[in-house]
Amino acid sequence: MPRLYESRKRILVTGGAGFLGSHLIDHLLEKGHEVLCVDNLFTGTKRNLEHLHAQPRFEFIRHDVTFPLYVEADEIYNLACPASPIHYQHDPVQTTKTSVHGAINMLGLAKRLRCRILQASTSEIYGDPTVHPQTENYWGNVNSIGPRSCYDEGKRCAETLFFDYHRQHGLEIKVARIFNTYGPRMHPSDGRVVSNFIVQALKREAITLYGDGKQTRSFCYVDDLVDGLIRFMDSPAAFTGPVNLGNPAEFTMIELAELVLKETESSSPLTRQPLPQDDPKQRQPDIALAKKHLGWSPRVDLRQGLKPTISYFRSLLSDVGVIG
Ligand code: NAD
Ligand code: UDP
Ligand code: UDP
Repeated sequence: MPRLYESRKRILVTGGAGFLGSHLIDHLLEKGHEVLCVDNLFTGTKRNLEHLHAQPRFEFIRHDVTFPLYVEADEIYNLACPASPIHYQHDPVQTTKTSVHGAINMLGLAKRLRCRILQASTSEIYGDPTVHPQTENYWGNVNSIGPRSCYDEGKRCAETLFFDYHRQHGLEIKVARIFNTYGPRMHPSDGRVVSNFIVQALKREAITLYGDGKQTRSFCYVDDLVDGLIRFMDSPAAFTGPVNLGNPAEFTMIELAELVLKETESSSPLTRQPLPQDDPKQRQPDIALAKKHLGWSPRVDLRQGLKPTISYFRSLLSDVGVIG
């Protein structure tokens, strides 16, 4: 079909009702594009999109990506997949199906449309890493039969499919390995560490430290991450990735708990709980590749990014009368 507006693209975002997807959609709409959001609302919510009600360039389809999808688009961001351990372990078979069948369907769609497609891959590709910080050429240390495997191996297989469609069918692909990202619109009961600690601190409940709290993660603010995804999608075709996107500043979970207590002005005590099986001990992205090819590095540090995140949870909890 001839295009009326050359600079305006029709962009499909799967998983667009979720945390990252809804921010990505906001940024794409701000750039003047049309956005089609496809989501089965398993972990996402229409609340994340309700501010777009009157936006004529936005459309929503409730659909499960494990089933074929026939729509028109110029670009695809494939984000559909539960991302937090309690969500992806709720129905592990469905998690693998979403990653693998979802990738096949979205790649088949991109192949028919001859359009570019970006995969939201993950630092979980590296498992419990023995190389630190993680570079893209590290192959990882992943358990194939544990409780995290449905997510880790599903995402690894999706990467394989992306590169096979690229080699076999000449598809233009982009594979982004996203490290722990946080910000407004995280699900308050997704069990992730940032949302758990903030909600617990605001409710004046004990902060649940798993294990000795010395394991590390590197937290990226959502606006930085979305900027990285869009730059990557817009980068030259030859740069397929995989590329790490994350904030290299690394914190222990004890340090995170202390910062959250300070920023929420809470005096909640810390309490120890058992470390979940296969919980990675350390994680930090090497982002040299993203800096070189995308001119990208994160700008928002953890203290800055926690402020709007805490405000979000504060208003969410007071709206439902959980806090005063
Ligand atoms: P999220 O759970 O908030 O969003 C995922 C969205 O996908 C939800 O709206 C959910 O309803 C939808 N979905 C799940 N299964 C689906 C299916 N079968 N069909 C259609 N929609 C489906 O999680 P998020 O944090 O926004 O993560 C988005 C993507 O980024 C995921 O692919 C995740 O693996 C990846 N990622 C996120 C992080 C992070 O720290 N947030 C880190 C690494 C990778
Ligand atoms: N597919 C889809 N939308 C399309 C084209 C394909 O959902 O517009 C799905 C379809 O289910 C198909 C899968 O993508 O099985 C893989 O497509 P591909 O063309 O690679 O393989 P084939 O059709 O030969 O199975
Ligand atoms: N964690 C914790 N308390 C919580 C939730 C998580 O100490 O209430 C720990 C968890 O064991 C892990 C880290 O925080 O070491 C990050 O967990 P999250 O589920 O956010 O992300 P992932 O493990 O997938 O990186």
